[in-house]
Amino acid sequence: MRGLRASAVLLTIVLATALSSGPSTPAVAGPADPEPASLVTLSVPDLAAMERLVASGADLTERVRPQPDGSIQIDAVVTPSQLAGLRSLGATLAPGSPSESRPAQERTTARDQIVVERAVWFKSRDGYFLSVEASSGAGAAATLSVTWKGRRGSTGQAPMVPYVDAGAYLGHQLSTPVPATDQPQWVTVTSAGGGSAEARVREWPDGERPDRTGPGYQKDFVSQYMPPAQLNERIKALHRRFPQLTDIITLPNPTNGYRRHAQALIGAPPGAAVVVTSGAYGSEGGNDLAVELVTPGAPDRPLQVTVNGKQITVSLATDGSGVVTSTAAQVAAAISGAPGSPVKASTYRTDPGAGVMAPAPLTQLSDFLQAPADVSRRPMPVLALRIGVHRDGSRPGVLAYAQEHAREWVTPLVTIEAAERLLRNHARDAATRRLLRSTDVFIVPTVNPDGANYSFYDFNSQRKNMTNHCPPQQSDPALRNTWGVDVNRNYAVGSLSDGYFGASANCQSGTFAGPAEHSEPESRNVIWLAQKYRNIRFALNVHSYGGYFMWPPGAYKLDGRVTLPRPTAAQEAYFLRSARTIEEAIAAERGTVTWPQQTGPVTDVLYSAAGNSADELWYDYGVFGWDFEVGSDLWNPATGQWEGVGFQPPFSEGHEEAMEFASGLIALIGVAADHREAR
Ligand SMILES: [Zn+2]
Repeated sequence: MRGLRASAVLLTIVLATALSSGPSTPAVAGPADPEPASLVTLSVPDLAAMERLVASGADLTERVRPQPDGSIQIDAVVTPSQLAGLRSLGATLAPGSPSESRPAQERTTARDQIVVERAVWFKSRDGYFLSVEASSGAGAAATLSVTWKGRRGSTGQAPMVPYVDAGAYLGHQLSTPVPATDQPQWVTVTSAGGGSAEARVREWPDGERPDRTGPGYQKDFVSQYMPPAQLNERIKALHRRFPQLTDIITLPNPTNGYRRHAQALIGAPPGAAVVVTSGAYGSEGGNDLAVELVTPGAPDRPLQVTVNGKQITVSLATDGSGVVTSTAAQVAAAISGAPGSPVKASTYRTDPGAGVMAPAPLTQLSDFLQAPADVSRRPMPVLALRIGVHRDGSRPGVLAYAQEHAREWVTPLVTIEAAERLLRNHARDAATRRLLRSTDVFIVPTVNPDGANYSFYDFNSQRKNMTNHCPPQQSDPALRNTWGVDVNRNYAVGSLSDGYFGASANCQSGTFAGPAEHSEPESRNVIWLAQKYRNIRFALNVHSYGGYFMWPPGAYKLDGRVTLPRPTAAQEAYFLRSARTIEEAIAAERGTVTWPQQTGPVTDVLYSAAGNSADELWYDYGVFGWDFEVGSDLWNPATGQWEGVGFQPPFSEGHEEAMEFASGLIALIGVAADHREAR
């Protein structure tokens, strides 16, 4: 019951200071304007509430942090009215400081059997940290804590949190890695119910050291966030510069395009308003249309619609004394039914439209898109850059694809930086030559260019593509920021329609799966690559943020938490061993260590994501399908807290993330070069 009032105050602050690198919204919001959205940290009391949050289709980020008191914090993009809805699901804004966290509940447990599953230390640029995972015979009810001894006699102590997902107890862990003054050597996990276990602390990630690069190795090729047109120009320029080493592949499914139908909201919602929508896209004539509602100024006139070129004039009906009688429903029907009408009209949302319409001055329709005119409104080609000495299918292929989610601006830079490094260093670096001789790399910098344009120019929190599948009652212009399909829920394995959890059938949801599997060109393009180039054996789906490295399974059915089939033990070992090699390369860049508890199968370390691409690649095409969440939390020594970096950090931070995860991608290409049948 911690204060709703406090949360409301916090909301005000968060909204006032919210990330706002997108275009400004109009000073005075009207009924046609979307609500502002903010990136906030939500707190839910327990896993059941977390599941309700996921099931609600809330626009959640990948940053999930269990807390010592059993609650869970997760970052989400919400509008004020969505936040009000989420409160009814038990979510509140997370308190600003740890001192506000709830006191731990009293728990009584029987004497307890403890197993230390994993105890590791790592050294990041901020010093030593400890991560411990353990399980208790008493399950989630156990209260566990860990003490440790360090190399130089230092000691420390921290509480552990139970990790329960979809009703299944997965063990206890430290909420986040805890700082240690020197290298921890031994841990003891103790249960409040009696019982303890001791374990030696191993190093993490302790993978193979990255290949030594030759003198003069070049890197650092990205200098700003790039919208889609610039990304495409960049890989075309690389192809022109290195024609012997590259091909440009135009994927077969152009996107729908950065375009929308033009609209106007006329009248006074909800009862006396109509939403007018052009048949043509705004850029193809829709924006030139205009609608006016006039009163005939005479009694007993019928409702009439006249289409005169680009102008639609509605003459409202009057009664015997000349008073207007046309309701919104009647006006909407008349506009839609007028012969040759270039627009359709509907009443406002679910309102039946019984209110009488007032005359309205000539109103221009708009697609509300704010990108400069040189940003194409046409269907957009999605491009892949193929890199390798032998691009004939004889080498193991690696597919790296980024920006399924539009707002993840760092992710294309990871692929561009890696492509530049591979090509620019081919002539001077033996390790790079080995990679280009022994692998066949496919890089798709932006899977979802339409959404990316929308994120750059209109609504920086856009996650989905731009295609609106909503019915008219969910399609008035103020809702335009909620439309689109979550590309990474639109795939065909472990999907929503197969009964898997973590996608939504609601067209306005952040995780809308689309009207059908593969309904979207964006997802069909990714699968086309796997179908066409059967030598692709490795794939990296680049997302942000939170600092994860994951692999299948990525979805389960909620009832019984039945996951997609687990890889075999040998395959799991291969996934993990490769992950440690790749994470070593990431850490070598600036000391960013991917946490052990964020390295593993998606379902174990994050949440269920029905219909994601890595699962389809793995289960249907035998491709080792990995997911990066670039943008690891940053340690704040002043507060002693890990802090999330967000989708569009200042470029200085985005640049660092691109550098380190490009090193990770190149390490994955190294894993492919070393690959001997692991399946
Ligand atoms: Zn994402």
